[in-house]
Amino acid sequence: MSKTRSTVPARPVFAGVLSPFLPAVFIGCIALALQLAAGSALAADSASWRAGTGRASITPPAGLWMTGYAVRDRPADGTAQELWVKALAVSDPAGNRGVILTLDLCDVTREVSDRVAASLMTRFAIPRSAIITNVSHTHCAPWMEGGIAGLRIFPPEGVAKAVEFRHQLETKMVQAAADAFESLAPATISWGEDAATFGFNRRENPEAQAPALRAAGKLKGPFDPRVPVLAVHGPDGALRGLLVSYACHNTTLSLYQWHGDYAGCAQAELEKRHPGATVLFAIGCGADINPAPRREIAHAEQHGRDLADATDRALRGTMKKVDGGFASAFEDLTLTFARIPTAAQLREAMEKNQPNKEMHQAWSAAITRQLKEKGDAIRFYQYPIQAWRLGNLSWVALGGEVVIDYALRLGREMPGPLWVFGYSTDVMAYIPSERVLKEGRYEGETSMIPHGRPGPWTPGLEDKIVGKTVELVARTKQAAAR
Ligand SMILES: [Zn+2]
Repeated sequence: MSKTRSTVPARPVFAGVLSPFLPAVFIGCIALALQLAAGSALAADSASWRAGTGRASITPPAGLWMTGYAVRDRPADGTAQELWVKALAVSDPAGNRGVILTLDLCDVTREVSDRVAASLMTRFAIPRSAIITNVSHTHCAPWMEGGIAGLRIFPPEGVAKAVEFRHQLETKMVQAAADAFESLAPATISWGEDAATFGFNRRENPEAQAPALRAAGKLKGPFDPRVPVLAVHGPDGALRGLLVSYACHNTTLSLYQWHGDYAGCAQAELEKRHPGATVLFAIGCGADINPAPRREIAHAEQHGRDLADATDRALRGTMKKVDGGFASAFEDLTLTFARIPTAAQLREAMEKNQPNKEMHQAWSAAITRQLKEKGDAIRFYQYPIQAWRLGNLSWVALGGEVVIDYALRLGREMPGPLWVFGYSTDVMAYIPSERVLKEGRYEGETSMIPHGRPGPWTPGLEDKIVGKTVELVARTKQAAAR
């Protein structure tokens, strides 16, 4: 490792990962990351930041089963809107590179994220921490083999199609990222922010009344209206790329057709308004936030226009230039589920005639399978936390369906500009704050059924996640400032 460090003259950007806090299990990965980071830094000769984009359609054919809602009882019958994987690669003046992949999908598994990352690490000599995957959580997306396990027990031909989709998806994700790296070109990267208010806290407000409550200024519960915007301009001043975020479920629609929901509409709208620009959407911590109104395609289009309007207002406002170095960090945190169901509970879930019977049966089958494979170890889960520093801007990418409390608390605890993405790397379950966990209900407890998990999280997860996130952000700030 010392040899590797000495070969990074200007900015040992991943030196932060040498922190004494690091568990021994990561040491092997760190050595590799340092070697790779050194290789990329030495290869650099540009004096400016560079950026590149890539994209591929990932729209499945009709006939695949959908995910997101347990009530769907048949496969998708067509396409209402294309689904995309899009990639934005960046390189700092020293040549340290990263890529974010955003997907119009409901979920992504750790296995998919890791396989794609492994391919990119080898091909482009970058560390694992420099690759983010984020899904928009559209509920009009295909069920992916290995993904959300407690929706229903799919027929064998449905599983076979999902396996095939997953194979093709991984290939397209790698290709989109490769296109982004290979199109890296000098760019001005800047960031700003505006706001949109079509989301509302779905735990605290009745959906039917949400538009009226909003109009009256009487919505309850935490909510984050911010719309962070990252813009990439070429030397000629042309807008080449945008990355837009918002913390709200993509649950406007519940079609039997593929659709990107409001996030898909926002991307399409912005690409129409800005020809030549690739527009990415990365979702924030919107696990307890829903759009309103919803159910109709016109609603998704309206929310998409609201988001596009907010983006254009941000672009016309004060955009700060990304200035400084790139650094990244990635760690897994071991979380635990509070309990494992008994054999009697699993049997009852399989046999009882109850509402959403298929969902309970799928949960029972998933837990039985997990217990057979891993035994009591299914109580433990490796939770992914990732941080990026882009000059003077920090990004955090958290796994799971993260409630809004995390984005608000992390913003309070860390000074300076910070964007917090949820639904990154692995969408394994809801991630409730301590408040939401204590309150229970869907995001705190019962969502573990469709997610195919043994029980609610053990109390204390919020402090653990926030503590590790603060540590990783601090590490990237130090590394990027060197
Ligand atoms: Zn969700």
